[in-house]
Amino acid sequence: MRHREPGAGAGGERLAVLDPATGEAFGEAPDQRPDELNDVVARAHEAWRGWRSDPAARAAALLASADAVEAAGAELAPLLTREQGKPLAESYAEVARTAARLRHFAGMAPELRTIADDRPVHSEIRWRSLGPVAAIVPWNFPLQLASAKFAPALAAGNTVVLKPSPFTPLATRLLGSVLSATLPEGVLTVVTGREPLGALLASHPGIRHVTFTGSVPTGRAVAEAAAPGLARVTLELGGNDAAVLLDDVDVERIADRLFWAAFRNCGQVCMAVKRVYAPVRLHSQVVEALAERAETVVVGAGLDPGTELGPLNNAAQLARVERCTERAMTDGARAVAGGHRLDRPGYFYAPTVLADVPPDSPVVTEEQFGPVLPVLPYRSLDAAVEAANATRFGLGGSVWGTDLDRAGAVADRLECGTAWINHHAELSLAQPFAGIKDSGVGVAGGAWGLYGNLRPFVVHRPREVRR
Ligand code: NAD
Repeated sequence: MRHREPGAGAGGERLAVLDPATGEAFGEAPDQRPDELNDVVARAHEAWRGWRSDPAARAAALLASADAVEAAGAELAPLLTREQGKPLAESYAEVARTAARLRHFAGMAPELRTIADDRPVHSEIRWRSLGPVAAIVPWNFPLQLASAKFAPALAAGNTVVLKPSPFTPLATRLLGSVLSATLPEGVLTVVTGREPLGALLASHPGIRHVTFTGSVPTGRAVAEAAAPGLARVTLELGGNDAAVLLDDVDVERIADRLFWAAFRNCGQVCMAVKRVYAPVRLHSQVVEALAERAETVVVGAGLDPGTELGPLNNAAQLARVERCTERAMTDGARAVAGGHRLDRPGYFYAPTVLADVPPDSPVVTEEQFGPVLPVLPYRSLDAAVEAANATRFGLGGSVWGTDLDRAGAVADRLECGTAWINHHAELSLAQPFAGIKDSGVGVAGGAWGLYGNLRPFVVHRPREVRR
């Protein structure tokens, strides 16, 4: 939905924002015209001069920003739930993570290094910021994913133009306004609107680094858009993570954790468990344990107290999940729980556990990105590892069992960026985050995230004064 409103945004275009729990519009944001980007990027460039030159002031501003985000939690979290759909407690957790990230990077500085060799010279490595950074993020974790980009970019001395998804612009705009009190003008600017805003931001000649999180096809388009200007590109893309259960796993003990690793945020998590491989002997027990949880979890609007699982974020995503599940059932799968959308307004789909799924059905080979989980039996561990790796994605994976050394040895064979044992998708702020294959390019997280926003500047000098 799109309408004109005098004085709203330069051209007055507005973007309607829908509540996924009802499907009704409840708010709006500017639908900014691509030509507004020139001013925004010019201001980001201007602000870069001051921001890059004073690391102590930068650290203080980022710490103050973390405090400001925390203080605004009671406004940010309900707005996030309203536009994204997730339960309120998860929105509060997302706000807390955003503040924690600002604090984490505020205290981080690149290491100055001197490299000496056997010649009478040494090379000093100093680190320089890049310039304005474009941060483009999806709708599943609008604040958390934005902060994973802007916190390291700002800490490194860059300025940032942040573009949220048109499905979830409101909490990000509010965050931008909260941070305008703690950051100098032009250091972080939020732009909102539908395409081609993102494409033009990624290709803008004033942008020196495009850091993008989203789907594989859009990631490719972003890389192409950034290529003519030769801007650095960091891509965090989709995943199709496998959980491999070993034959010594205690099913009842891990069932809750495994269930939530797949269904949190209604399955709309890049590194959710999207396929489970269970030994033939335990397959029915695993299916039943997961189905029991799928049938009893409280599904509802994120703002309702007691809701454990919200709706999908948007109608297109609901249609995709529905299509993918129906295709699996046509292919011979059996829905042991769910298998249909819920008969109520909004974008609700019943938490679904699938058995008898052919391994080449799209619900196994593609990213379903919703509350639908196929559980596949395996006969040999080698076959399970081979199936887990037989995907064009390579984000995460996990191994579940009682003998941790054995589980660790199996985890070592997974082709992905992060492998967990007996849990999934838990990330510390300090660890690197990098998908392989179609799941991404570049490294985010921890010190790697900081260096991803810096360039080495080398000064090569004699060790002694030459006469
Ligand atoms: P998407 O790729 O459709 O959109 C992501 C962002 O890109 C949005 O802001 C969108 O407006 C913008 N965009 C769309 N077309 C563009 C273009 N041509 N150029 C530049 N920007 C453009 O993804 P989505 O549907 O919003 O999010 C779901 C996807 O994100 C899933 O595939 C999921 O796995 C992935 N994801 C990955 C990670 C990760 O860290 N690897 C994290 C979360 C989500």
